[in-house]
Amino acid sequence: MRDVKLASLCSALLLAAACNPLANKANAPGATTHGLELSAIDRSVKPGDDFFGYADGAWVKATQIPPDRSTYGAFAALREVASKRAADLIKGAADQNAAPGTETRKIADYYASYMDEAGIDKKGLAPIKPQLDAIAAVNDRSGLARLIGSTVRADVDALNNTNFHTPNLFGVWVSPDFADANRNVAYLMQGGLGLPDRDFYLKTDPKMTALQAQYRAHIAKVLQLAGVADAEAKAQRIYTLERKIAESHVSRADSEDVHKANNPWAAADFAKKAPGMDWTSFFQGSGLAGQPKIMVWQPKGVSGISRLVASEPLDVWKDYLTFHALDHDLNVLPKPFRDEAFAFYDQTLSGQAKPRDRWKVSVDAVNTALGDAVGKLYVEKYFPPEAKAKIQAMVANIKDAFGRRIDRLGWMSPATKARAKEKLATLYIGLGYPEKWQDYSGLEVASGEPLANRDRAELFNYRQMLARLSKPVDRSQWWMTPQTVNAVNLPLQNALNFPAAILLPPFFDKDGSDIENYGGIGVVIGHEISHSFDDQGSQFDAYGNLVNWWTPRDAAHFKDSSERLARQYDAYEPLPGLHINGHLTLSENIADVAGLSASYDAYRASLGGKEGPAAQGFTGDQRFFLSFAQTQRYKAREQALRNQILTDGHSPSPWRAATVRNVDAWYPAFQVQPGQKLYLAPADRVRVW
Ligand SMILES: [Zn+2]
Repeated sequence: MRDVKLASLCSALLLAAACNPLANKANAPGATTHGLELSAIDRSVKPGDDFFGYADGAWVKATQIPPDRSTYGAFAALREVASKRAADLIKGAADQNAAPGTETRKIADYYASYMDEAGIDKKGLAPIKPQLDAIAAVNDRSGLARLIGSTVRADVDALNNTNFHTPNLFGVWVSPDFADANRNVAYLMQGGLGLPDRDFYLKTDPKMTALQAQYRAHIAKVLQLAGVADAEAKAQRIYTLERKIAESHVSRADSEDVHKANNPWAAADFAKKAPGMDWTSFFQGSGLAGQPKIMVWQPKGVSGISRLVASEPLDVWKDYLTFHALDHDLNVLPKPFRDEAFAFYDQTLSGQAKPRDRWKVSVDAVNTALGDAVGKLYVEKYFPPEAKAKIQAMVANIKDAFGRRIDRLGWMSPATKARAKEKLATLYIGLGYPEKWQDYSGLEVASGEPLANRDRAELFNYRQMLARLSKPVDRSQWWMTPQTVNAVNLPLQNALNFPAAILLPPFFDKDGSDIENYGGIGVVIGHEISHSFDDQGSQFDAYGNLVNWWTPRDAAHFKDSSERLARQYDAYEPLPGLHINGHLTLSENIADVAGLSASYDAYRASLGGKEGPAAQGFTGDQRFFLSFAQTQRYKAREQALRNQILTDGHSPSPWRAATVRNVDAWYPAFQVQPGQKLYLAPADRVRVW
């Protein structure tokens, strides 16, 4: 649940220094100075009025969002570093002329194929023709169901990466069973939308209405480019079908409720509970045949889609599948398709001004297909054992601090506290890289076949996931690659992953001071730990079973604090008329409050309770809070900010920086007074932990 990240990943462009904050950043990786970034601070702003504006205001003024991006900030800058490093490793692999079949050779061939745009242009539609032919050959509903099944991939992840979107009609997530965390089970999730969420189809404000027309034009354009006759009329029918799918979808907020997702269905239940689709054919096509049970995450969405599979004309479904097959592969089709991918998805939908360089797109593609193979190289080169040792010590301190906060809670019953402590003790915290690497020997990567390579890699990944269905749960299983700039809580495994690539400044400086590290990565660690104990974490016990281990009184207190925090965020209005959704972002906001509080305690405890030394003109406590706010550096184009507010479980970073107003120690550190905009009376500060 709940990756810590903020916005879409668009990666590196080490352009002119002017639009690359890392270029003039004192504590960039490899630099010799450490600590806060003083040039980011705007001393004309009062910390008590706008803490983000104070800590990051000068950075905001000086920074332009690079034209190939829709957002920019601390995470994006780190992603540039990670992406550049991954690119160097991947290009390095290409220079080695490694033996066929080795991981190095697979990395090299995958990358070179993706980079060869001339080769892609020359082949035209030939590489995708087998897929289009298979769709054209469908002539009855069972053939349709089998084909829909064959498009299913492991491209959704409900609780770890909280990715609920797949343009395929369904997505599968393989994870421990709610009822028995020792066994894996397949979770089936609703999908089928080209736009990010049902709201994009159902909202009727002018911006969304315009976007809907632009999406219909995009569908028509893709079909036209592929030489499909009658593209305009078909696009209209495809859009109408997607709109019906959207109407059947469960909302994002409801999708986050695990109790609504706890629906074990036997294979035979599907025909009764979700009539319409030929489920036997679907299970054959998707490789799920023979599973004793499947967890249906959104019964309303799944049954609604199933009804449409029966009721909508076969030809419309075939047009829909044709469009989605093409749309999925736009980046590995000839130039007019790639241009259209940029024009619609990057420009119209995200406000990005300029296409990303091909090498960046290709690096991302290799990272997606062969993530652990690249990760192994990344860790060898960039994550030395001393960095791991330092972060391990911090994690131990923050865990202890969290345990002490549990002990001190006035509202939690002793029985619940004992179970919370048990959960804390059994928490697996993965640092840097997984204990076991993915084996890619079964994945075929061929030179000159970017589209087929991509499809094979997605299918390989899906089959690896299905293979877990017959194996015991491995609680140390990772859900992110080491070169990913992020961190994640895995509720069904009672585990956390902190990839090597986030363990860098401004989050973590292995040669820097602990104070800034506690304000940076320490808060992230506390944030992720707290997810194990929040509204969702309280639903999963120490072993990952879906068991509520709180008393009703504990839950009532938590709900009361939560509601007050939701109201605090509901009041924020990042765009005129568009407020943050305090409930959509509640879990993340609670985690920010808890993470900041626990990491503050851990920093003080590491110094025997004393405040840390002053440096760079700031007191120890100021350094801690400023370091936190500097990790929240962020700018977004209006469209991207709007998308984020509507669909992302995380509040936009500038409002995350305002978390400080709930922590008592922040007030004396910056002499924050009543009447200042962020001031909260002690009784109004939300303390959950
Ligand atoms: Zn989170």
